[in-house]
Amino acid sequence: MYDPSEGQLNGLQYVRELGRILQARGVEIYEQTPVLRVAEGSTITLTTPHGRVRAKAIVLALNGYTGKLGYFRKAYFPLHSHVFATAPIPPDRLHALGWYNSAGFADDLNRISYATTTREGHMVFGGGSNRSYDYLFNNRTTWRGNIEPAIHAMSQTLHKYLPDTAKIPIAHRWTGTLAISFLRNCSMGVRGADKNVYYALGYSGHGVTAANMAGRVLTDLYAGDGETWRGLPFIQAEFAPIPLEPFRWIGYHFMTRLTGRSPRMPHR
Ligand SMILES: Cc1cc2nc3c(=O)[nH]c(=O)nc-3n(C[C@H](O)[C@H](O)[C@H](O)COP(=O)(O)OP(=O)(O)OC[C@H]3O[C@@H](n4cnc5c(N)ncnc54)[C@H](O)[C@@H]3O)c2cc1C
Repeated sequence: MYDPSEGQLNGLQYVRELGRILQARGVEIYEQTPVLRVAEGSTITLTTPHGRVRAKAIVLALNGYTGKLGYFRKAYFPLHSHVFATAPIPPDRLHALGWYNSAGFADDLNRISYATTTREGHMVFGGGSNRSYDYLFNNRTTWRGNIEPAIHAMSQTLHKYLPDTAKIPIAHRWTGTLAISFLRNCSMGVRGADKNVYYALGYSGHGVTAANMAGRVLTDLYAGDGETWRGLPFIQAEFAPIPLEPFRWIGYHFMTRLTGRSPRMPHR
């Protein structure tokens, strides 16, 4: 399917611009300040390495990291998702490779693959293989290891779509953490005995716009004005529980091997 109205959004630039606007409105942002512990109550106390913060209400906006603070541990797998970018490709060469006037593409096969180009001409590619994703025992959120076998398997998928890309060197590779819930649903709402722990998570790989919308949803709930959202399936949605270890690790790897091949099979 070709959608001429498609566009692309650079998530990092978006977050940076959001930060600039919030700071201009007087919001203080503290980076490199992990919350180590949350003590709930009518006033919530957050412990950080260098001090405590007390608040009337908090928002858990941690997606794949939410379980680290003891919340929603059974709700999702923290998955590690790999991506690579080729060296910059001049526009005329991109056309010759088969990439025309398009912001990007995704397919609809097992282990969805997706690609886009940057302003500088890098081709960025993710997914496309069982090896594009990894789950680490006990919900670990930091991925360490040799990324090359995964990048190799993923590049095979790109070469199938655009065979001449096999000649283009890969310049960058990286890994990010996201939350995949069992039914691929996200949930937004409020919890806690004092109804002051707001949360949004479980975007299952599609959170850029949904997390943005969560900001509006949670603002309305906090203001006591949730009518607009009432009854929508992501409000206070339950997550199908995923068992904890060792069943979680065994189940993930068993299901991954069972349901997807690397390279992939089309859906039947
Ligand atoms: C490779 C990859 C490709 C993706 N592609 C797409 C896509 O094409 N479209 C799409 O819609 N979505 C995509 N996603 C998913 C999307 O990035 C997420 O759904 C989205 O970023 C979720 O936003 P968030 O703000 O809830 O969480 P995050 O962006 O994960 O932010 C969570 C933040 O919490 C911080 N944090 C963690 N623990 C603590 C703590 N204890 N104290 C304080 N801070 C903490 C983290 O440092 C992080 O900055 C992709 C994700 C990955 C990894």
